[in-house]
Amino acid sequence: MPERRRWSVVRATALGSSAGRPFSAVSRQENLDRLAQDTFDLLIIGGGITGVAIARDAAMRGLRTALVEKDDYGSGTSSRSSRLIHGGIRYLEYYQFKLVFEACRERRIMRRIAPHLVRPLPFLYPLYRDQKPAPWKLRLGLTLYDALGLFSNIQRHRWLDPSEMRAREPLVSQRGLLGAARFYDAQADDARLTLVTARSAHLHGAVMANHVRLVDLATECPDHVGACLIDELGDRQIEARSRMIVNATGVWSDEIRAMGDARGEPMIRPSKGAHLVIKRERLGSNHAVVFDSPSDGRHVFLIPWGDLTLIGTTDTDYAGDLNRPAASLEDVSYLLEAARHAFPASEIECGDIISTFAGLRPLIAAPGGSYGVSRSHEIKDSPSGLITIAGGKLTTQRLMAQQVVDHVQEKLASTYGHKPGRACCTQQPLEGTQNGHPPAGVETNPVWESLTDTYGRDAALIMELAQENPVLAQRISPDGNHLMAEVPYAVQHEMALTVCDVLVRRTRVIHEEHGGGLSSARAVAQLMAPLLGWKDSEINRQVSDYASEVALAQGWRHEQRSWPRRA
Ligand SMILES: Cc1cc2nc3c(=O)[nH]c(=O)nc-3n(C[C@H](O)[C@H](O)[C@H](O)COP(=O)(O)OP(=O)(O)OC[C@H]3O[C@@H](n4cnc5c(N)ncnc54)[C@H](O)[C@@H]3O)c2cc1C
Repeated sequence: MPERRRWSVVRATALGSSAGRPFSAVSRQENLDRLAQDTFDLLIIGGGITGVAIARDAAMRGLRTALVEKDDYGSGTSSRSSRLIHGGIRYLEYYQFKLVFEACRERRIMRRIAPHLVRPLPFLYPLYRDQKPAPWKLRLGLTLYDALGLFSNIQRHRWLDPSEMRAREPLVSQRGLLGAARFYDAQADDARLTLVTARSAHLHGAVMANHVRLVDLATECPDHVGACLIDELGDRQIEARSRMIVNATGVWSDEIRAMGDARGEPMIRPSKGAHLVIKRERLGSNHAVVFDSPSDGRHVFLIPWGDLTLIGTTDTDYAGDLNRPAASLEDVSYLLEAARHAFPASEIECGDIISTFAGLRPLIAAPGGSYGVSRSHEIKDSPSGLITIAGGKLTTQRLMAQQVVDHVQEKLASTYGHKPGRACCTQQPLEGTQNGHPPAGVETNPVWESLTDTYGRDAALIMELAQENPVLAQRISPDGNHLMAEVPYAVQHEMALTVCDVLVRRTRVIHEEHGGGLSSARAVAQLMAPLLGWKDSEINRQVSDYASEVALAQGWRHEQRSWPRRA
């Protein structure tokens, strides 16, 4: 069999093909035609977690649904979070019991419907003399947290005395240690959760297109809203028609609202949060650990992520380019100082940092422009008919989607006389997120574990591709566990269209390897080229785009070099 044909094996058992059409680059091309021809009940702008969750919900209820995303699924905030699916214990301090109750319920649902992606994560919250809250207060709060989770979380919280705490996390600061609370939340790869939700929407019939930008809205039409779209990869312009349009563009929401209603008050106040990525062995942590920054007392989290640890996050007002948030040297110094203070014996330093990433919280602006701690969401109708959903969390996206689609159905009924819509049914398992089993003859090893963590039951399909072709059995980067077989899989089953789509979001090579895996980018582009019809010039462009993403993640190092040296 010729090489190209072998890579393009699309098995009948493969997830993406169960609805007849795989979630692939080819389907996207067909979807562009459908966007130009059909009239939809609902067009969603924005393919972050909020938008794709709405698309899934609407498609499952039988609405004619389409979604466009200007870059890639999850490329905005939804691939740059702390990756926690959590009740949000700290919101108890602000008496936000409803928010915590809802988030705990969503955590339970997400663990049930996406078990390979949403995994339990034990937390330790050490407390020190002279630190707030007092231990009794923390224990009371955690009892309430257990109660709001209906006592059905993975385990109830426990109090550890200093010696037990020391045994579990030997590098945590011991000075003045009074003990620690141990409790559970969950974690998930945000980019992959977004992707599998997008793919689920596709499987239920939604017309999904990444790398398609909304550039204008025509709100004067009598029986629909017109959306002027541009295919960012092909320069094609499309006039799409939909009865309802939902703006799920996170920190870009005000830009879209201005297209329909130039007089609207700004709704969003972006806040930047940065993370550091270091090798897990440097801090040896077995738990997520919550600690206070010595400079301002804010909570900072240390979050285990496979062989890595994430340290985050900051929370600063942001007025820069929404498309290119990055960790600054100031962010890096703040987080390093906090981690060194909490783990003094580790002596971590700049040289330990493998990568950084930063995201923008789409916080709701309060009157006067201030914002509080709340991460609640808001659904707003514009006079033009546009519906905007903003705020919220990764954890609560399913619930947010349910509320938006309920609202859309009410408006379809009142404006267009649609029959009352169906009830939400998104508590069904997310397709493909069940744990995978190795194909015959494949032993469980770190590569298999990485595959099954990433792809659930489709891991076996990727392993088979690797077994058939030695090129695909090679690792994407020598130190990592990702295989080249993931590259054609990403194009053919996960609608990856650029090298960044593959190395930043389908896999997390950019943050897992020193140097961002840049040396592998050309080989990845060459594997994608026959599947996407790229010539040499396009391969070069793809490599250079990826280099620019890597430079962004490593940009703080240049600030460091340009610092004046001490005399
Ligand atoms: C640092 C940080 C840590 C966080 N940690 C957590 C956490 O641990 N747990 C948790 O539950 N939540 C967390 N959050 C919150 C969570 O990540 C966000 O609430 C969520 O990702 C927002 O998703 P979204 O879909 O609304 O926005 P986005 O993911 O930003 O999606 C909006 C999309 O709209 C697209 N778009 C914009 N303009 C256009 C256009 N003209 N045409 C087409 N598409 C367009 C963008 O490209 C983008 O992909 C965190 C957030 C940050 C910043």
